[in-house]
Amino acid sequence: MRQRMVAGNWKLNGSKELTRSLLAGITTGLHDDVSADVVVCPPFVYLEQAAAALADSCVKLGAQNVCAETSGAFTGEISADMLREVGCQYVIVGHSERRSLYAESDNLVARKFVAARDSGLTPILCVGETLNERERGVTEQVIARQLQEVISLAGAETVASAVIAYEPVWAIGSGLTATPDQAQAVHAFMRERLRDSGAKADACCMLYGGSVKPSNAAELFSMPDIDGGLIGGASLVVGDFLAICRAA
Ligand code: PEP
Repeated sequence: MRQRMVAGNWKLNGSKELTRSLLAGITTGLHDDVSADVVVCPPFVYLEQAAAALADSCVKLGAQNVCAETSGAFTGEISADMLREVGCQYVIVGHSERRSLYAESDNLVARKFVAARDSGLTPILCVGETLNERERGVTEQVIARQLQEVISLAGAETVASAVIAYEPVWAIGSGLTATPDQAQAVHAFMRERLRDSGAKADACCMLYGGSVKPSNAAELFSMPDIDGGLIGGASLVVGDFLAICRAA
């Protein structure tokens, strides 16, 4: 039985007050009815505050991005060791907004994955196709390409020991959600790719992301290869996030 997980990606949202109130709401609202690992990923500048607020709780901390380099002349960047030092256990790499808005290539995402792993962070590796790619019938090729670059650099077993989030780009922040069958098909495909690459794919934690809400979470998470969710918008609403955690 794989560990279930729900991770909240706050994106470019927050303030000291929002960090305080969201984390107070989440930590007091989490009870025995949630068996999934719960992770929150606030913006960099609130990570230390979040780590302090989560010190006595089971909620884990993640960052939304990391530099592929360890130190040096990379103005504005944050290294994996820095994230570890302020209390992160996870980091999102390859989110579609980073790939599309900041031109992150498959190779850069793979190098970020390796940098995170080398410093002891667990990467949450995001992959996903655009609407155009889905309509052209190349979803599997796109996912395979995005996964392969990381497998080639990090090794299949290392990828399988991380968390992989399938996030169809057309479903992120759009209100459109992949149907459970569509999401399941891609998760099964990703597991098959890992297996074919020699990894223990059955142990890999795989999340679905893209407009997950309390109303659709349970059905998505009931699919055999979906182990939980990566949540954007709904992670900023305590009641919704807790309901999604309970569904996982
Ligand atoms: C995300 O940003 O990873 C995401 C899935 O966003 P949303 O839940 O808002 O679609």
